[in-house]
Amino acid sequence: MVRLIFLGPPGAGKGTQATLLAKSFSIPHISTGDILRGAVAERTDLGLKAQAYMDRGELVPDQLLLDMIRNRLNQSDAESGWILDGFPRNIAQADFLDQLLLEIHQSCDAVVNIDVPDEVLVSRLLERGRKDDSEEVIRRRLDVYRSQTAPLIDAYRNRQQLVSVNGNQPIDTVTSELQRLIEHK
Ligand code: AMP
Repeated sequence: MVRLIFLGPPGAGKGTQATLLAKSFSIPHISTGDILRGAVAERTDLGLKAQAYMDRGELVPDQLLLDMIRNRLNQSDAESGWILDGFPRNIAQADFLDQLLLEIHQSCDAVVNIDVPDEVLVSRLLERGRKDDSEEVIRRRLDVYRSQTAPLIDAYRNRQQLVSVNGNQPIDTVTSELQRLIEHK
């Protein structure tokens, strides 16, 4: 049983590593970015509300995320563990998650931070070429990460939950370092 939160700036390889580890632990990979992009593609009410924020590289309002996370963690496949990728993204979301985990009698085993220098992030994101990967939007997403998400790193470190890995290495090196760190946590 493994429950993990993935932090780290856009382009750090969170999605890639979360996908690989979820497969190796046979647990669901819950990416709020993927869920939101699915909602945008299907033009659901949520998608229509979220799209403009995503296009600008801003965080979607918390209120749109909270029920989504609550419902997702209450689904039966999440009983065997989970990897949360892209949530929480700010202090309010982290407080909400603490409360939710208490309510459902679960706890997170580790918070993974994938560290990558800024210049590497920008060039990786430009190569990826997703709709929100234009240079201007990339800059905005990095600013939002620094101001709203990065403070969570210290908060989780103070609670002894943080595991940090150098993400500027080949994909399988990062995966095996993560596996080793998580098993020793
Ligand atoms: P990601 O795929 O994690 O990079 O997320 C893509 C975009 O979805 C972000 O730039 C935000 O606009 C939105 N998003 C994803 N997760 C969250 C979240 N936890 N809170 C607010 N917005 C989010």
